[in-house]
Amino acid sequence: MRKQIAAANWKMNLSQNEAATLLNELLSLPHSLQAHQEAIFAVPAIYIPLATQKLAGKSNIYVAAQNCHQKESGAYTGEISAPMFATVGVKHIVLGHSERREYFAESDVLLVEKVNAVLAIESTPIFCCGEPLEIREAGTQNEFVASQLKNALFHLSADQISKVVIAYEPIWAIGTGKTASSDQAQEIHAYIRSVFAEKYGQSIADQISILYGGSVKAANAKEIFSQPDVDGGLVGGASLVATEFAAIINALK
Ligand code: PEP
Repeated sequence: MRKQIAAANWKMNLSQNEAATLLNELLSLPHSLQAHQEAIFAVPAIYIPLATQKLAGKSNIYVAAQNCHQKESGAYTGEISAPMFATVGVKHIVLGHSERREYFAESDVLLVEKVNAVLAIESTPIFCCGEPLEIREAGTQNEFVASQLKNALFHLSADQISKVVIAYEPIWAIGTGKTASSDQAQEIHAYIRSVFAEKYGQSIADQISILYGGSVKAANAKEIFSQPDVDGGLVGGASLVATEFAAIINALK
């Protein structure tokens, strides 16, 4: 079975004490991960050592970065490279989140370099895609998302693409309390898989985990994750509440 993943995106939230409390609370709640299930915490970079220490020895739980610079090292003040994340044990890096595309002008061309940088350190890119509201209203979301995938990922080999996790996040559902219906999520996830199947073949496409993101919470996670092409979620707001995120982990199939 494909990996089923509950990924927390804390974004730029929490003090160090709050981060420690949240992880402590979460670990004290009942949550169970089977062999094909993972929980990933994309925490602010400064809290990676703390989270790594708190989650040490927990099977199938990983600490991730929310972004990285595309270069290995050099005069890029304030930036952190993928090889640096590797040295502190990070195995997953979120790339191309819509907030980074919007506020930091990340383009598909830049994302090609970042994807390559993450794969070069044998880590997993969690590659975000998803359409704004006007594209959904125009009914052209499939074409929009396909072009994000083709532009940033289609240079990869079949072996490389099978190591990428996709997060489909409709921008109109991020942090808005609006979620895509489970049917809408299934429809576009199946389409995304078909885009990979056309380029790489069905068996490679079937290995790629495709997460849904956009106002996932305890109350809707089970229904969304139960769809055949939805392999878990990338979760913002609800990942900051221990009881919510524990329930989301437990909703994985
Ligand atoms: C996100 O930031 O990736 C996200 C999906 O946020 P939220 O769950 O708050 O909509």
